[in-house]
Amino acid sequence: MAKYIFIAGGVMSGIGKGVASASIGRILKSKGFRVTAMKIDPYVNVDAGTMELGVHGEVFVTDDGDQCDQDMGNYERFLDENLSQDNYMTTGRVYQTVINRERNLEYKGKCVEVVPHIPEEVIRRINNVQKKTKSDFVLIEIGGTVGEYQNLLFLEAARMLKLKHPKDVVFILVSYLPIPKIIGEMKTKPTQHAVRTINSAGIQPDIIIARSQIPLDDIRKEKISIFCNVDKRDVISAPDIKSVYEIPINFEKDNLGNRILKKFNLGAKKNDLKKWKKLIETIKKSKKPVKIGIVEKNIKPEATALTDCYLSIIEAVKHAAWSLTRKPEIYWLDSKRYERDKKILKELKNFDGIIVPGEFEGRGVEGKIKAIEYCRKNKIPFLGLCLGMQLAVIEFARNVCGLKKASSTEFSKNCQVPIIDLVQEQKKNLIRKKHGGTMRLGAYPCKLNPQSLSFKAYKVPLISERHRHRYELNNEFRDILEKKGMIMAGINPQQNLVEIIEISGHPFFIGTQFHPEFKSRPLRPHPLFKEFIKACLKK
Ligand code: GLN
Repeated sequence: MAKYIFIAGGVMSGIGKGVASASIGRILKSKGFRVTAMKIDPYVNVDAGTMELGVHGEVFVTDDGDQCDQDMGNYERFLDENLSQDNYMTTGRVYQTVINRERNLEYKGKCVEVVPHIPEEVIRRINNVQKKTKSDFVLIEIGGTVGEYQNLLFLEAARMLKLKHPKDVVFILVSYLPIPKIIGEMKTKPTQHAVRTINSAGIQPDIIIARSQIPLDDIRKEKISIFCNVDKRDVISAPDIKSVYEIPINFEKDNLGNRILKKFNLGAKKNDLKKWKKLIETIKKSKKPVKIGIVEKNIKPEATALTDCYLSIIEAVKHAAWSLTRKPEIYWLDSKRYERDKKILKELKNFDGIIVPGEFEGRGVEGKIKAIEYCRKNKIPFLGLCLGMQLAVIEFARNVCGLKKASSTEFSKNCQVPIIDLVQEQKKNLIRKKHGGTMRLGAYPCKLNPQSLSFKAYKVPLISERHRHRYELNNEFRDILEKKGMIMAGINPQQNLVEIIEISGHPFFIGTQFHPEFKSRPLRPHPLFKEFIKACLKK
């Protein structure tokens, strides 16, 4: 029988429940088990794909094209496994399945009710992942914090699964212990309340991961143990740390892995975190910085932080930099400023390399195009991701090919030179208002030009990378671009779409229609990011 670990959050969100879950996964994997991880998001959206930048944080994309929460990216990075759409669920998704089934008469004339049918569908999805992945452990992170109306039905599912398989289900609460400035001491009360709240859903946490600024002392461990009804050894200290990749090692200091095994009546096992520990050492000894500027559209101050919106890019930069024993330093550059004052563009020279990331709808694009032009002319290493690639093509068309009116039909509907445009199938989607889940999504093969810098980076002729976009380089303009020195470095063999562009005579100028950042792993940095950082170091 497989084992299930539910992870819920207490007190507040944003305390790193996702990386805590991912770290537990890493620990169990390092003890020789097969592990998979699932994320439950309580919102009604079927996926994260319809939310704009800043509302949700990064939309992570799986190989099979799911648009999901950034935590799925954390799981992939920590577990070093590819996950699928089965590993992600939202309230919308669960209800959609139940309603469709009702329409198909699959409930055989029964009254379909929120309870038990919704939690049953949640459980069915969890079991399905276990079966498909043949995992020993399934980690299920419930989004949000306990006490929210939104995630009650998911807690209900967890409770029902425990009732059915009492020996195979463990609950972990990731809670927060604040140290209010005026008091200057760590408070356990909010955690006690969180435990009361989860108790009222019929669930008793087996283990409490206590997040705080500093490590937990013995007195607090004792206090939490008594008031929250857990063994003192099951109160795990989780202080703030510099790098999230240290978390598995920190958890193991409190013996978390074996405590979990004990809950399942399994014997203790040694972990093998050698490579992981080596990574931490490398991070610590990487002192010389590599400075990367990311040109972005300034989002609303109340929005999710940019560091969340572009999480996978940041991580990919880090992985690559560390692999070259450099300390990654990332700077956010608001593109709007370049539109107001061209002189500011000079600041780009202060960085070792520039990234223009993906985005939608065209806000701030003219400033980004100016930044790209500056990188091209001044030979600053440039990496354009998705929209960043499209803008690099527009810039080249305008300023090198003389197509002054070149643009994308995404932000210039009636543009006369639609160098970036929709393919036929996508035009139909938009006319029919079919927006959700209809972009070009997930992994597609790409054939590399053997003369390209990309080939030099990947060292293989055929690659597979993940996509999330609707627009494409318009093939009608390929000839003009190529004649003027743009290299079509990667092509999708089935659909003949341009996936990578480069320009000759530049130390590093690459744009990818796909998102390489989704496939970078801490112990296996992405080849393109690594090549980019190498070029940055040469600058
Ligand atoms: N907005 C562009 C498109 O839909 C690029 C998307 C992206 O950068 N992810 O094609």
